[in-house]
Amino acid sequence: MKVIYLDNNATTMVAPEVFEVIRPYFVERYGNPSSMHSFGGKLARDVTQARERVAGLIGAHPSEIVFNSGGTEADATAIMSALATMPDRREIVTTRVEHPAVLNLCKHLARYKGYKVHWLSVDKQGLLDMDEVRAKISDQTAIVSVMWANNETGVIFPLQEIAQIASEHGALVHSDAVQAVGKVPIDLTNTNIHFLSISGHKLHAVKGIGVLYVRRGTRFSPLMVGGHQELDRRAGTENVPGIVSMGMAAELAASHLAGRTQGIARLRDRLQEELLKAIPNSHVHGHRELRLPNTLNMGFEFVEGEAILMRMDEKGICASSGSACSSGSLEPSHVLRAMGVPFTAVHGSIRFSLSRYTTAEEIDFVLNEVPEIISFLRRLSPFVNRDFDRACVVQ
Ligand SMILES: *Cc1c(COP(=O)(O)O)cnc(C)c1O
Repeated sequence: MKVIYLDNNATTMVAPEVFEVIRPYFVERYGNPSSMHSFGGKLARDVTQARERVAGLIGAHPSEIVFNSGGTEADATAIMSALATMPDRREIVTTRVEHPAVLNLCKHLARYKGYKVHWLSVDKQGLLDMDEVRAKISDQTAIVSVMWANNETGVIFPLQEIAQIASEHGALVHSDAVQAVGKVPIDLTNTNIHFLSISGHKLHAVKGIGVLYVRRGTRFSPLMVGGHQELDRRAGTENVPGIVSMGMAAELAASHLAGRTQGIARLRDRLQEELLKAIPNSHVHGHRELRLPNTLNMGFEFVEGEAILMRMDEKGICASSGSACSSGSLEPSHVLRAMGVPFTAVHGSIRFSLSRYTTAEEIDFVLNEVPEIISFLRRLSPFVNRDFDRACVVQ
């Protein structure tokens, strides 16, 4: 059965060009870039090229790019570095809708390390209240960590504005931009953003490679101390195939950003509009404009997200309910809960996330199957009247 993969916010296919370009690094060019001999040593040039390509994608200088193991490590390194270099400040400002990589780290820091964490709330559309942002950032704030775009809803936050406020208080700024990089333009040239996290496997590179952008002049305390790789900012032998894959993926993303994301947004919008039309009592979660071009989070009332996913899976359609991490545990999405989506509606939520490899035919197929799946499940539901066009909870 052909798989229709609409779960690209969880992970992506390695781009064919990326796969092609990394093959030799496993079998012919497997050296260590730190070696004195040229077999290994010449790989340093390939690492440098990848570094330049990643820097180019986000308007950074190559020296600001630190390769590591992924988005989670990048998030942890940024936050722990800020706390280590600002020991007099004991407060963190972040949001209620961060990825667990930031969310659970901040919970941990509050619970076991005595930090005060300010959790910024979001409204029904998933947007921040800038007055609250202004009120919570103070001269006690060591770090403000706000994601660039949300992985569940695709909602985009105004990082430049937040960084401006933070700079008035001398606080450091980190953004988990794992979902945004490669999907929307990012230019860090003239910003007050000190740290930015990227993950390879979310933009068609391989799993286990990530990047932390560290702004020049930012005091830094490494998470991994050991060898002198990455200018002492991340010890450990370089993951050369991963790094090369990241460079290639960045190059491809840059060239696609101009034209093709519009195509993705068009497909996403068609999926959204047709599903809304075909399925009564369905809603879009998250602001429709301030949103990644590839993400669609929809709520279908009176049905279980897990049940929808299972029936879609039987048809070869891959999507996600809630966050990848909470799916399987039946725990409602913390993002949708923070947006005030009622408990009952949270459970019937599905995230479709497209990529540049998604085709119109695939969207047609989904549009053929999903309305039928929902109405089938509603027919089984004890909570729904038999009149599906006016579905309502039976008293
Ligand atoms: C996937 C993801 C991460 C984690 O990245 P890994 O490379 O899997 O560790 C962090 N933040 C966001 C927003 C993500 O979507």
